[in-house]
Amino acid sequence: SDHQLVYPPCPEQMDWSTLYPDYVVQDDEPEAAPGAAEGEANQETTTPAPVRPKRLTQDVEVADIGCGFGGLLVALAPVMPETLVLGLEIRVSVTQFVEDRIKVLRHQNKDTGLYRNAGVLRANTMKFMPNFFKQGQLSKIFICFPDPHFKARKHKQRIVSTTLNSEYAYVLKPGGIVYTITDVPDLHGWMVQHFEAHPMFERVGEEEQEADPLVEIMRTATEEGKKVERNKGQKHVALFRRLPDPVLP
Ligand code: SAM
Repeated sequence: SDHQLVYPPCPEQMDWSTLYPDYVVQDDEPEAAPGAAEGEANQETTTPAPVRPKRLTQDVEVADIGCGFGGLLVALAPVMPETLVLGLEIRVSVTQFVEDRIKVLRHQNKDTGLYRNAGVLRANTMKFMPNFFKQGQLSKIFICFPDPHFKARKHKQRIVSTTLNSEYAYVLKPGGIVYTITDVPDLHGWMVQHFEAHPMFERVGEEEQEADPLVEIMRTATEEGKKVERNKGQKHVALFRRLPDPVLP
């Protein structure tokens, strides 16, 4: 449960170095933490200043929320090799599976360096998104086949809601895109309704949607999508653009 989840107090304190070791800034001088000098003079009263985590040469820009077994993640990583792609998953064993999957792929592709830009993190995205990501950090968020929570009293557990959409708007840069796909028509309607009603999002038109090569990858690469395919189910896609920040008077 959540009390076992580790999350940073703020994005600046997030240590990404173990997820993306090839992107760690080399010869990064550790910043003199505030109060460090006083600490030397008066060690009894000053607690050690926190050490800033190792920095990366670039930030994570693409997040797959509830990434499951990581099918989309490992399909996206080689098509956007210059971008750091992150899967977020709440289940411990599933997160471990994806971590191992990435490790194997990196090893198999060590000559080309592919998959160094893929990482996975165990997290409850309903609670801690702004702890991991700075305002406007992400350019794309994928929400693929989220748990439908059919019963009305369970709707509050859906990962698309007015409150959560505000968090997605916060971590996305203006012009950033939320990609959604589901085989549940009612959930598709719910996601469309909640994003269209949100002042910080507009739906992307069908022509633009179908011209985006990532949409086809999203339709075919996830484990849940493959299951729907086998069962000859329908896949409903909707994309939403993060609007520019409003100009305050
Ligand atoms: N996106 C994957 C796919 O299409 O194959 C997995 C879909 S699966 C139906 C939904 C996933 O979301 C599960 O792996 C579940 O553990 C994860 N999940 C549910 N709630 C979550 C939360 N609050 N934070 C992170 N992951 C969550």
